[in-house]
Amino acid sequence: MGSYTGFDMVPRLSEGLLDKHNWEKFLKFTRERYQDDDQVEMKPNYIAFKFDSNLLLPFEGHKFLRFGTMIPNEDSGKLRNYIDTVSRVATVWFGSRAYCWDEGSGLPGHYGWDDVQRSIRSYESFDSPNTPTTTAQLVLGTDPISELNLPLYEIQPVSGKGQGLVARFNIAKGQLIISEKPLLTTLNITNTTTMEKQLAIKLRKLPKDAQRQFLSLHNNFPGKQPFSNIVRTNALPCGPGSTTGGIYPTISRINHSCLPNAHNSWDSALGHENIYAVRFIKAGEEITIPYDHGGPSDERRRHLKDAFGFDCDCSICSSQPDKLQRSDERRHQMKLLDAAIGDGFRVMYSPKDCLKDCQALVQILEEEFEGSQDPHLARLYYDVFQISIVHSDQARARAFAERSYKARAAAEGENNLETVRIQRLMEDPTRHDSFGLSLKWRSLKNQVPRGLDSDEFEKWLWRQGK
Ligand SMILES: [Zn+2]
Repeated sequence: MGSYTGFDMVPRLSEGLLDKHNWEKFLKFTRERYQDDDQVEMKPNYIAFKFDSNLLLPFEGHKFLRFGTMIPNEDSGKLRNYIDTVSRVATVWFGSRAYCWDEGSGLPGHYGWDDVQRSIRSYESFDSPNTPTTTAQLVLGTDPISELNLPLYEIQPVSGKGQGLVARFNIAKGQLIISEKPLLTTLNITNTTTMEKQLAIKLRKLPKDAQRQFLSLHNNFPGKQPFSNIVRTNALPCGPGSTTGGIYPTISRINHSCLPNAHNSWDSALGHENIYAVRFIKAGEEITIPYDHGGPSDERRRHLKDAFGFDCDCSICSSQPDKLQRSDERRHQMKLLDAAIGDGFRVMYSPKDCLKDCQALVQILEEEFEGSQDPHLARLYYDVFQISIVHSDQARARAFAERSYKARAAAEGENNLETVRIQRLMEDPTRHDSFGLSLKWRSLKNQVPRGLDSDEFEKWLWRQGK
């Protein structure tokens, strides 16, 4: 046996320029110090100390939590020397933020090993950098606007669409824009006369303020039955596939785009609808969410006209014919791949073909959504997780669950029940009901090859070249 020692970065580094600059200096010094040491290797994404797979320094400092490991009793002093030296250099650059600990002397580390292992796995691939929303965030990595808790939007007239929500400030990808309780919820009733009566009863029970808010919402189907037509124009399903719809004072004013910059999700624990930014939104830009069910533009536009009563003229629907045609081809392909991936028979008997389809879909989503594809990726990576875990491949299942978790946390928040459920599966993929239905690809969750660069890691992950 032995004892654990190392240093933790507390609090962890931000993505701001100052922290980045200090981390680069620290890495440069470390690199120079060990340039002739064959135990220290430069990988594409990190510096690796070959003694131990925990001893890595990533190039992206904001991912770093710990440099440390167990020093066996029989260590000649060499391993301890590496850890002590790197820790000392870190304290020069980061002061007490580089928290040195040594369990042998009764001083435990700050982070749990689960979190540390997760951070180490994230070194394998580079994140696409977040666009800073303010100068302060660019330099310090903190965002004063979100700390002040000011509303990030304004309700404004939007040309051709009545009212809409417009960003007051720059909004970062992954930021919660608004969380709101419904004024009322209602079941999807096809008989409008019945619905009109039931809505009238519900409305009468609401406070005057809420009644006014409801009646001030836009109605795309003027004529008889105003209540049900306001619902038809404005309701959002309370969760995917839900037959209950919610009407909101503010969220119901968010307009549609086939290439939206925000995503709506139902928080069943709080009974709220949440809107998260799925890409960087510039101050002054309209905030949009998708009302459509996918498919090429003619299908989408027909659905939007029938269900919500408007002609879509979003940036995709109104683009040049050649651009629109390319988008339509991708959307058509997305539908075909979606159907193929969801085929249980193929998952069981041709899982490798399914994996190939999933990988192709990741590529198409990237091209079509240009960086705002997280809501789609959350679902897709969960599908790949399931394909892996059906065949008992815990190592890849965990990696895919992690990608699904990250995408969902960005699009729906860390506390959303579905995000939490996927986080648990990431920690222990064997919790999934389908685990072990087949033993075809059996692996343990830690059987991830070490020291791969990001291309090699992707090849391993998607089972290419096997
Ligand atoms: Zn459109």
